[in-house]
Amino acid sequence: MQVLNKNWVELAKTKEGYEILLDKVMANLPQTFGKIGDRVLVVNPIIIHESKRTIITNFTSIASTLGREPDHLARFILKESGKAGTLQGERLLIQGRVTNEELRRLLELYVKEFVKCPICGGLDTKIIAEKRFRFLLCEVCGAKSSVRKI
Ligand SMILES: [Zn+2]
Repeated sequence: MQVLNKNWVELAKTKEGYEILLDKVMANLPQTFGKIGDRVLVVNPIIIHESKRTIITNFTSIASTLGREPDHLARFILKESGKAGTLQGERLLIQGRVTNEELRRLLELYVKEFVKCPICGGLDTKIIAEKRFRFLLCEVCGAKSSVRKI
């Protein structure tokens, strides 16, 4: 019995090790969103999973690549994932576990809703505030589309 229990523990360790490794590989895959002129918009989120939280270590650099405020991107991710969290320096600390796959999907949704021009698909855009409303202003085609406040 003793031996069997020990085997189970070893197995669990191996599985966990495998998952950590898988997460690491997934996290290290760059995520491409399209082209800005001659440049390609690519982010490479570095995600660490701890037992009770998920950390994106290069969060502010992802926000700056997307041309958005880290606060704005953080509010989106926390709201959409239904998790609590805080920005701390370069990092976003999320309470609880969010998989790499889910984070990548959230980044995609964010780009689709708050970065990419719905008219021409251009990524050279900015968010402007007019009175109580927010607009996505496209610097490629000049379109102005309303976006929700988050
Ligand atoms: Zn456009």
